[in-house]
Amino acid sequence: MHGMFDQHCAVALKATESAAKLCQRVQRSVTAEALEKRDKSPVTIADFGSQAIIALALREAFPDIPLIAEEDSAALRDEKNATLRDRVVEEVALVLDRPNLGADAVLEWIDHGSASSYSERFWTLDPIDGTKGFLRGEQYAIALALVEKGEPVLATLGCPNLVNPDSSVGAIFSAQNGKTRSHGQGGSSTVVRVSPEEDLSASRFCESVESAHSDHSQSKAIAQLLGIGGESVRMDSQAKYAAVARGDAEIYLRLPTRPGYVERIWDHAAGYAILKGAGGRITDVDGMELDFRHGRGLEQNRGIVASNGIHHDRLIEAIAETREAETR
Ligand code: AMP
Ligand code: MG
Repeated sequence: MHGMFDQHCAVALKATESAAKLCQRVQRSVTAEALEKRDKSPVTIADFGSQAIIALALREAFPDIPLIAEEDSAALRDEKNATLRDRVVEEVALVLDRPNLGADAVLEWIDHGSASSYSERFWTLDPIDGTKGFLRGEQYAIALALVEKGEPVLATLGCPNLVNPDSSVGAIFSAQNGKTRSHGQGGSSTVVRVSPEEDLSASRFCESVESAHSDHSQSKAIAQLLGIGGESVRMDSQAKYAAVARGDAEIYLRLPTRPGYVERIWDHAAGYAILKGAGGRITDVDGMELDFRHGRGLEQNRGIVASNGIHHDRLIEAIAETREAETR
């Protein structure tokens, strides 16, 4: 079977797999002591390392497609951070099996991701989405999407800690040609679809762990209003989009906690394509389509509502109703 962007998908998958390897190695090195001290260096190392690997692969295969990625090399170039920089280079060299790799090359690869303005075709990357989850040893994601005329048409989403239905750990998803797949060992893949659950009161919510990223009290009020009894599943990163895409949950709410916060495109583009390809629906909290044509931010949107699509409009209403109740 051949489709548009076959090569893009193959390159993205391979790069995401290598980046996941690096992230897993680094995450295993996070000690209880580092956690206690709130030492953020492990996630910083993995973040830059993951971006270097993916940016290199994209640059080699598609030199003309800009990449809007979360990180740039400025901090790593600072001599104060020489130790951190050495650690990044060491990890990248290991995963790419390039023992003589130098810092200059790695910094240059990272900066291939420094595009910031909209173009008709671009990649966007979050090298580690859910940094807080990564440090806690919980969920994080490597999120890469190709945006074509403002629409994320292709994506890969690596979720190294996601538990699968067969209890194995770690999943990589891709979305291409309007279909979402989950990739297993040895090149096998299965098509992923959203939950067909039609009973709204039986719907399962998922939301951020961090209450600063999504309003937990409003989501509780919405659940109550809609007669949803179950507890909301909290997890970090775009793994939430994957959870809805494969039917582990029906609804993902991201409810603004403060006026003026602009969502970053790399926090949503990959998840958007993955869920859309699985039959779901994604809008902002006002029911507006997400607008990926404003550079690094979803400037025209507020918050996110992602669902299996069945009760999406009712969700948007419930958000408005609970917002009124709060400001009254
Ligand atoms: P999550 O793991 O779903 O909680 O989302 C993590 C992402 O939240 C990070 O990549 C940040 O870009 C983003 N973020 C940071 N501050 C906020 C905020 N005030 N509201 C929503 N998202 C935020
Ligand atoms: Mg992120």
